[in-house]
Amino acid sequence: MGKKKYVYYFGDGKAEGKGSMRELLGGKGAGLAEMTNLKITVPSGFTITTEACLEYFKSKKKYPPGMWEQTLQGLKRVEKSMKAGFGDSKNPLLVSVRSGARASMPGMMDTVLNLGLNDVTVKALAQKTNNPRFAMDAYRRFITMFGSVVMDIHRDKFESVLHQTKKTFGVKSDTDIPVEGLASLVTQFKDVVLRETRRKFPDDPFEQLKMGINAVFTSWFGDRAVTYRKIYDIPDTWGTAVNVQSMVFGNMGDTSGTGVAFTRDPSSGVRKFFGEFLLNAQGEDVVAGIRTPLPVNALKDKLPSAYKTLMTTQKTLEKHYRDMQDMEFTIQEGKLYMLQTRVGKRTGIASVRIAVEMVKEGLITKKEAVRRVDPDQIAQYLYPIFEPSEEKKFQPIGRGLPAGPGAASGKIALTPEQAVTMKARGEKTILVRKETSPDDIHGMYASEGFLTATGGMTSHAAVVARQMGKVCVAGCEDVEVLEGQGKVRIGPSVFQEGDSISLNGFTGFVYGGMLSVVPSEVVQVIQGNMTAKESEKYRLFATLLSWADQIRHLKVRANADAPDQAQIARGFGAEGIGLCRTEHMFFAEDRAPIMEAMILASTPEKREKYLAQLLPLQREDFIGLYRQMKGFPVTIRLLDPPLHEFLPKREQLMVDIARLELTNGSASEIEEKKFILERVDDLHEYNPMLGLRGCRLGITMPEITRMQVRAIMEAACEVAKEGKKIIPEIMIPLVGMATEMKAQKAIIKEVANATMKQCGVKLSYLVGTMIELPRAAVTARQIAEDAEFFSFGTNDLTQTTYGLSRDDAFRFTGFYREHHLLDFDPFAVLDQEGVGAVMRLAMNEGRVTRPNIKLGICGEHGGEPSSVEFCHSLGLHYVSCSPYRVAIARLAAAQAVLNAEGQKPATKSKKKVGKASTKTKAHARRVTATTKKPKAKTKARPRKTKARR
Ligand code: PEP
Ligand code: MG
Repeated sequence: MGKKKYVYYFGDGKAEGKGSMRELLGGKGAGLAEMTNLKITVPSGFTITTEACLEYFKSKKKYPPGMWEQTLQGLKRVEKSMKAGFGDSKNPLLVSVRSGARASMPGMMDTVLNLGLNDVTVKALAQKTNNPRFAMDAYRRFITMFGSVVMDIHRDKFESVLHQTKKTFGVKSDTDIPVEGLASLVTQFKDVVLRETRRKFPDDPFEQLKMGINAVFTSWFGDRAVTYRKIYDIPDTWGTAVNVQSMVFGNMGDTSGTGVAFTRDPSSGVRKFFGEFLLNAQGEDVVAGIRTPLPVNALKDKLPSAYKTLMTTQKTLEKHYRDMQDMEFTIQEGKLYMLQTRVGKRTGIASVRIAVEMVKEGLITKKEAVRRVDPDQIAQYLYPIFEPSEEKKFQPIGRGLPAGPGAASGKIALTPEQAVTMKARGEKTILVRKETSPDDIHGMYASEGFLTATGGMTSHAAVVARQMGKVCVAGCEDVEVLEGQGKVRIGPSVFQEGDSISLNGFTGFVYGGMLSVVPSEVVQVIQGNMTAKESEKYRLFATLLSWADQIRHLKVRANADAPDQAQIARGFGAEGIGLCRTEHMFFAEDRAPIMEAMILASTPEKREKYLAQLLPLQREDFIGLYRQMKGFPVTIRLLDPPLHEFLPKREQLMVDIARLELTNGSASEIEEKKFILERVDDLHEYNPMLGLRGCRLGITMPEITRMQVRAIMEAACEVAKEGKKIIPEIMIPLVGMATEMKAQKAIIKEVANATMKQCGVKLSYLVGTMIELPRAAVTARQIAEDAEFFSFGTNDLTQTTYGLSRDDAFRFTGFYREHHLLDFDPFAVLDQEGVGAVMRLAMNEGRVTRPNIKLGICGEHGGEPSSVEFCHSLGLHYVSCSPYRVAIARLAAAQAVLNAEGQKPATKSKKKVGKASTKTKAHARRVTATTKKPKAKTKARPRKTKARR
């Protein structure tokens, strides 16, 4: 026998493993060991390690030496503990075989219950329990489960036999099938197995056990599990453990039952014992959502003694783990057995509430609270809700359980495949199913929300929704999927696939049609439409973030270029503006024609005329920003994009000209269009991203820089005269050479000083540059002679370091990801190895010349948690991100500190996976990332890269 230990026993109040061994024993195995050691009643069993699983795959599906022998020894101990024999013809021991990876992957891998039954042991079980119906019921369930999970037979094959048998016996529910019906099912199911696999159903319990273990191991690489791991960044190399545990039965009559419970509400986080159970039911019935369960508190009347033990147990477990627990239990003839405990998954909203309240209860420290909340998850605080007055006018057509918070509208998809297809067409979808199963995962991922006809708050749909941050209404009895017709009845109405519905995941209401959605409570408080006093959610959110602020070193600024954005940014706690993209001001409707005229102007003098018209408009914008920022720094970037972006599209002009000519349009109009076309052609570049943009504009057309600097300084002087503190930071884009920096700085200084003189105000201001080109990084020492700050423009820096177009990369990065050439989208997650190294070089070089040079980042990465952590480790002074990501960055920055102190956060830094940039046309590029709300529901989900700007 090999020496390595592959099997860890637990039972009779003592376990070989312990809670801290989850890497080896998986989450479930570690939890069972820990509960056993806590003297909580757990049916005895053993865990086969994840290491055994990995070795099984390494040696082409052979057990590692000693594993099987240790399994048999483990089984002997269980037999002894349970005073029963595996396969014993008089007193048989039955076991469950379940998967259990290090990270919870609900429903993704395989489970077999009642293993050990055959024609002989079933009789013994009937005698032992004095309940032949129960024994036969367990047997037919076992064949179904083993047949589908282990022998790969489609569940429908068993279901149709079951359906037919119910018809024959004239019963509706499984529980009403008489014992002879169950016996007939067993025979028929065995025939199904023989027909489908050309193999007899295995009678030998040891063969069953071996096949069960193999199936659990193999399910680690099953499609469902692989998809799940991809979505949640779980490495293939973790493997799963196998838990073999003696069976206890929740289906032994009305004093038995099974359930799932949470120590707090996983949806809202409210501190109340929460869960569901089914009487006279087994194992997966609750999670599978086949019958709608009762709330766990109803146990109090039905089985008071078990309820009392359950209440004590849940308190013990929460106190022991100092975190909300998700538990599975079975009651066999009045006696409670715990089958699982783990840290419960929760919504972002619950996560914050639990963390804050546990601090107040003295269970955890503020640092732990900050560490526990996944920064991406707090985006759920930004969940939209339905416009309340509109929702009032709508009559709900159904109501189910509010299983996943938020509001979602979309077109109905009745299959996961259809949801994926519709999503690919750019449509928002709501997946409507009788119940979801792990096989639906791809469709669930593609949908905005799910609506199910059966199942409770802990059904598959509900669990997945909360984890993915999707909206879910579960167990809606008003829903009837009209199988095979492409239709669904919801309450009084029948809908076709493609029709619109709306789900309120806070109340469980379902509406026909598309309701409009409005921002979340937190956003409403920030916008001043609600007070903090009125919103408890806001207060919890603000409390946690205030604790994060006490920990973090990095400052968090926002990318904002309009006063309303600046106001939102401040509301989210931004400590300044790190990037104001001034071109957005020129795209505004009232300014675009002046800008166009300015670009069309043939001489600098003519250009000046239009610039003079733009000046007061820019000045007003800056005044608005400064006022909103109340003394916090404001970095204003000079004009960046190529000028042709401000002119009409070439193709459109050609169409217009042709149309005018065909319809005898006015000669002057034709002439004008032709002139514009000529100018568009003049400005046309083969590669505008690398062309006349950034500081190259201000250098070749210095009058633009002059006007902008004047506006920046006049605004600053005016605000200073109001008695407010203001230090403008003027930022030059796309500098690649020290000479460019010098040339632009000279103009800036001259205009700034002249303006201050004119206004009679003396102000401090800074002049700095973006670092967006590798050459700028390499020559940062020289550039820093003039630059007083560097702000890393990592959108362009990623583009130029990789030589990968930020607008076109999506065309092949999907292929790269599939073929493991890229394992994350570098436009969403900072490439620490490449782009990060370029940043480090620039910092080091810049500091040689200017040791205290101010350093920040303003590319999209500034709001992505793992990138924020990297910026902290580099020693930047601030990150700047879109206003809606400011809170995420604040939390991530605090976690970066805790991480560096050696305390791992709830979600460790990760490289997000995802497709690369969506195609962004010049027009689309004008849509500022700062005005775009991040999709609130972004947990570990492949992300689209933001538009260029
Ligand atoms: C950048 O390149 O990272 C940046 C912030 O500038 P823009 O996205 O406007 O090019
Ligand atoms: Mg840029």
